[in-house]
Amino acid sequence: MAPFLGSSSTIGPVAGRFRPTWAEVSVGAYAANVRALKALVGPPTRLMAVLKADAYGHGASTLAPVALQSGADLIGVSSIEEGVALREAGIKAPIVLLGSVFPLENFVSVLEARLTPSVFSLEAAHHLAAIAQVIGQPASFHLKVDTGMGRLGLSPQRAREVLAYVAGEKSLRLAGLYSHLASADSDPDFTTRQLRDFLAVTEMARALGFNDTACHLANSAGAIAHAETRLDLVRPGIALLGAPPVATPPSLPLQPVLSWKTHIVFRKRVPAGTSISYGRKFRADKEMEIATLPVGYADGVPRAVFNKARVLIRGLRRPVLGVVTMDHIMVDVTGLGVDVGEEVVLIGKQGGDEITAGEWASWAGTISYEIFCGISKRVPRTVVS
Ligand SMILES: *Cc1c(COP(=O)(O)O)cnc(C)c1O
Repeated sequence: MAPFLGSSSTIGPVAGRFRPTWAEVSVGAYAANVRALKALVGPPTRLMAVLKADAYGHGASTLAPVALQSGADLIGVSSIEEGVALREAGIKAPIVLLGSVFPLENFVSVLEARLTPSVFSLEAAHHLAAIAQVIGQPASFHLKVDTGMGRLGLSPQRAREVLAYVAGEKSLRLAGLYSHLASADSDPDFTTRQLRDFLAVTEMARALGFNDTACHLANSAGAIAHAETRLDLVRPGIALLGAPPVATPPSLPLQPVLSWKTHIVFRKRVPAGTSISYGRKFRADKEMEIATLPVGYADGVPRAVFNKARVLIRGLRRPVLGVVTMDHIMVDVTGLGVDVGEEVVLIGKQGGDEITAGEWASWAGTISYEIFCGISKRVPRTVVS
């Protein structure tokens, strides 16, 4: 039997793929989103496409070249592994590590892969300088200041000390100075406070002669909802995937990049009183038609969506019945006249309707980021236009 080929829009047969569950990643939508955000922030503001965690599960090596061709100036990832993977995929542009480097000896591997690390301590700056001296080439890095996220970063007070050291250290190049917003989607006052504290540090840096250093603060929510946080560079991740965490102006048309699809693999008619799935938490109160889909929590369907989730079949929202199992979910298809083989959309458009990652997030009590990152390796990603 031939392997399952995905929908007609996918690129040819995929060896060894049989299960009809997959995610489609639209490079055209991603390119359009990068261009739209770039247009919103305007030409002097540079754009770092944040592609950490394999582009939130979308595929970083697929999207990085698209980002760069569409106006992104640099790429942001979290770990050394993620940066190295993009270098191996042929990405030549600057790649900034937004996460931590630990232990500090790993700066050797960072510089070998020509990655740009973040530094959060004087000790790390010393270490990076020592390695750069051994290699015989100055090391570019970004200095991170904590203005209210409480995760990684020097306090603004300590930043002065590190900036003064870097100003006198020829083996170090301060390519960027940055901080991270904690609540740009929910708390404008705190965002304003973070901006004010960060600007005080940037002034300190200018006074020390750092005039080419890119100062940056804005994630997606900041870049969209707080224009004053855009500064020299913005760092959007989720917005470029078409799932902005804040309302977008009409001048920023963003399209979802990922669709998640499957096919009905089993269909049955059950009498009233039949229970469905573990724990028998759903019981049919009448005769029903039930479809079984080959997708479950091992694929990233959260169990927490119990009693809330819907999927699209024939362009209609149909309820998921009973609890999510590891490999399958069951759906009410009563009266639709559907049979096995029919395509089902978990995330994306079908007919005139659309289900977003944001809806799955609200059903599961989480955020779209976690829905995307949760779509597991078991779900093959297919690149579409
Ligand atoms: C993840 C991350 C971003 C991107 O955040 P989005 O909300 O996805 O835009 C930007 N900056 C840093 C430091 C991050 O960790």
